Amino acid sequence: MNNLARRSHLKVSVLRIGHRVVRDDRVTTHVALVARALGCDRIFMNEVDKSIRSTVEEIVDRWGGRYFEIEIIENWKSMIKHWKNGGGKIAHLTMYGVNIDEVADELRSCDKLLVVVGASKVPRELYQVSDYNVAIGNQPHSEIAALAICLDRIFIGKELTRQFDDAKIEIIPSPNGKRVLKKVRE
Ligand code: SAM
Repeated sequence: MNNLARRSHLKVSVLRIGHRVVRDDRVTTHVALVARALGCDRIFMNEVDKSIRSTVEEIVDRWGGRYFEIEIIENWKSMIKHWKNGGGKIAHLTMYGVNIDEVADELRSCDKLLVVVGASKVPRELYQVSDYNVAIGNQPHSEIAALAICLDRIFIGKELTRQFDDAKIEIIPSPNGKRVLKKVRE
């Protein structure tokens, strides 16, 4: 369990759908890194290049977050069905949704929340199956930015000072230059 989740019942996972092989590799990697760094426990992705998993695993190995799971799924529709049957709620991030500030309190009160981000056009069905269609403003921008802002609203900034107990390396915040603490010899 991560130390943000310890402060509440909430466990947040991310589902990335619509990944286009090669073209979306970098963006999907960044979606996964944002999920890990900003308080989520897990990311679900459909078939992606192996390098995405290994990049995230290398970060987890050095910077901590052993609990962070990467799950490769075959079919997002059945995954969502399973999630809902298990009592989980779904927040789909889309510029067509309602403003995050209108639903942030409700999202925060969930036990198990799946935040879904798209890549290219998102199928209509996702809008219908989601408990919340949430906009981070109603202008088109990016799934990385949308996820980061959504998590910041959910965790009300606490995700920015979280510690990873199992980190081998840690940054000592500094006003000038780089200060890094090596907790384990690499
Ligand atoms: N044109 C696509 C569509 O019809 O859904 C959106 C493509 S956008 C590059 C990729 C993803 O970024 C979206 O699926 C959504 O998850 C996220 N996104 C982009 N802008 C957003 C916004 N203003 N609010 C919430 N999510 C947004």
